[in-house]
Amino acid sequence: MRTQVGIVGAGPAGLMLAHLLHLAGIESVVLECRSRAYVEQRVRAGVLEQGSVDLLRRTGLGDRLDREGMRHEGIELRFDGESHRVPMTELTGRAITVDDDAGRAGPHQVQRGLVVGARRRSCTATSWPAATASTG
Ligand SMILES: Cc1cc2nc3c(=O)[nH]c(=O)nc-3n(C[C@H](O)[C@H](O)[C@H](O)COP(=O)(O)OP(=O)(O)OC[C@H]3O[C@@H](n4cnc5c(N)ncnc54)[C@H](O)[C@@H]3O)c2cc1C
Repeated sequence: MRTQVGIVGAGPAGLMLAHLLHLAGIESVVLECRSRAYVEQRVRAGVLEQGSVDLLRRTGLGDRLDREGMRHEGIELRFDGESHRVPMTELTGRAITVDDDAGRAGPHQVQRGLVVGARRRSCTATSWPAATASTG
């Protein structure tokens, strides 16, 4: 097998790097020692900072997140019998997105979408079978 870049590890970082290289027209192979089922199902990236969401959107991976993610614009702290809201978005212009869709498909959708994308581009070198799932 010949490729331009070898990436070790199909975690969010390795898979996102492969996606960014693909967008730049650079071929890569991601080497992963664990099974595809393990990589897709372990808990990763359920709560996404604004920067992660911006990157997913900018690189064409934000559609499902925009449909299903829950945007959180603040938190409420409670002490001495009183609630104190911290309006994060009002204060910073930024928010976090919770992609932990418990009861639907599990908290690993970003990771799963990156795996499926890599398989579609045939750039993950493991014993994993070809992708059949959809990123939705
Ligand atoms: C329980 C938990 C919850 C988390 N929740 C969040 C969250 O809500 N939001 C958030 O932003 N972050 C969260 N994180 C952190 C986030 O998961 C990590 O920052 C992220 O996974 C790091 O990505 P990575 O690709 O660098 O490493 P990893 O995800 O650790 O991926 C590394 C990959 O490399 C593979 N590997 C290692 N060595 C080799 C080798 N020699 N050969 C081949 N393959 C190899 C491993 O099997 C693994 O698949 C959470 C982490 C944990 C543990």
